[in-house]
Amino acid sequence: MQTDVVIIGAGPAGMFAALELADKSNLKIHLIDMGRDINERKCPATITGVCEKCNPCSQMSGIGGAGTLSSGLLNLRPDIGGNLEALTGSSELSWELVRYVDNVFLKYGAPKNVYTADDEQVNELARKAAASGIRFVPIPQRHMGTDNTPRVIANFKDDLIKKGIRLFLKKKVTLIEQGKVKLDDGSDIHCSYVLAAPGRIGAAWLAEQVRKLNIPIKHGPIDIGVRVEVPAIVMDPVIEVNYDPKFHIYSKTYDDFVRTFCTNARGFVVQEVYDSTIGVNGHAMLTKKSENTNFAFLVRVNLTEPIEDTTAYGQSIAAITTTLGGGKPLLQRLGDLKQWRRSTWGRINRSNVKPTLLNVTPGDIAMAFPHRIVTDISEGLDKLDNVVPGVASSSTLLYAPEIKFYANLIQVDLKLETPVPNLFVAGDGAGLSGGIVTSAATGIIAARGILHKEGIETINYS
Ligand SMILES: Cc1cc2nc3c(=O)[nH]c(=O)nc-3n(C[C@H](O)[C@H](O)[C@H](O)COP(=O)(O)OP(=O)(O)OC[C@H]3O[C@@H](n4cnc5c(N)ncnc54)[C@H](O)[C@@H]3O)c2cc1C
Repeated sequence: MQTDVVIIGAGPAGMFAALELADKSNLKIHLIDMGRDINERKCPATITGVCEKCNPCSQMSGIGGAGTLSSGLLNLRPDIGGNLEALTGSSELSWELVRYVDNVFLKYGAPKNVYTADDEQVNELARKAAASGIRFVPIPQRHMGTDNTPRVIANFKDDLIKKGIRLFLKKKVTLIEQGKVKLDDGSDIHCSYVLAAPGRIGAAWLAEQVRKLNIPIKHGPIDIGVRVEVPAIVMDPVIEVNYDPKFHIYSKTYDDFVRTFCTNARGFVVQEVYDSTIGVNGHAMLTKKSENTNFAFLVRVNLTEPIEDTTAYGQSIAAITTTLGGGKPLLQRLGDLKQWRRSTWGRINRSNVKPTLLNVTPGDIAMAFPHRIVTDISEGLDKLDNVVPGVASSSTLLYAPEIKFYANLIQVDLKLETPVPNLFVAGDGAGLSGGIVTSAATGIIAARGILHKEGIETINYS
């Protein structure tokens, strides 16, 4: 088979790249994804909280990529979920990309409402946070909702097909070579350009491909922590200011960076299953609500000498936590963690916070996590309690592990082209993003790089 551009991965990066190329050129485009079509994507974990290990994972793969069955929260800032300004070298361009991505989601049916607070509310919260040495990062956010995002993505997909994109689903790319990719059915597709956007689920595979092609790649940081669950009323006052409030904290003992991430107001905690380990995540629906709010509380870990492999480090912590939980995530009350004792169902049932995920093992996170990370979490929550009173109550629930594995950073230029000519990369799998908006933006940047090489788009990359 022969085409002009092969895009690997139909997540936000791949879909936005396809849209950009289709809108601005007559190039023939193949968009390939190993996952399923939108109406076939069902993730039991988003309904029952329990992962049934679909292959490939329906939560992480298929049309729309990893964000499709998620809360679909669009963080409308270029420095959240990556750093578009650093990638493009231009603040103006990075904001323009965010607005453009948002408008595309709106066109395909994202809700019109954007969560923005008035300046006075933001200033008051920022002041309160600063008084405790915490940075509050205000973000305009659009919430598509777990139950609504698939509809938006379906409209997006239909439009891509109308624009002439050839979509290949349930097809896995097994090999990338210059000017050619190989599929798992044994066929080859010859092409002028390859744009690889395989997301987090394809990050290890992409790293293997670029190593074979002698493209420089290095380990990035990792985030290790827990999912915190509190009564919704505890978080309501800050959620009024920002739907997904981001607090950046430095811990007292170790001066480590700790942050809140992915808040799900009146949401649910869910399992996330990897090959041999278990983790947790959270989601929120527009229609079904719980009485709790959950958010990730994560400690940034960077490794230098002699070991830089943050992924191996994170996997070993995930493995020991999975072993201790007997294959289930650990659940512990903050009060029990602080008293260095395990939680039991008896203690949890006496608490005023009822867990939304029950397929867990009450246990002791301190038996699984390094002391440094436990200290960071405990101190970080104590600091946060000054801004969000009640968040560090003894009945606060902690689910572990929540680990954000970022892909290795692949060497690229401003067009997101690798040192192998005409091989471009985009999205989370290349270590360039960590969210829906930023991954979509990197897809557009890479597509514009291709258009530039074709002489269609004139961009000054100096
Ligand atoms: C549970 C969950 C909730 C999330 N919630 C949010 C949120 O609310 N807001 C937010 O901003 N971000 C959220 N994220 C993160 C967000 O979904 C990702 O940052 C984003 O989807 C990354 O886009 P991407 O295009 O780089 O990759 P992905 O979306 O991961 O898509 C990559 C695609 O490539 C395909 N693929 C991989 N390897 C191959 C191969 N070899 N051959 C063919 N196809 C392949 C996969 O099947 C997948 O469909 C969430 C993620 C998860 C897992």
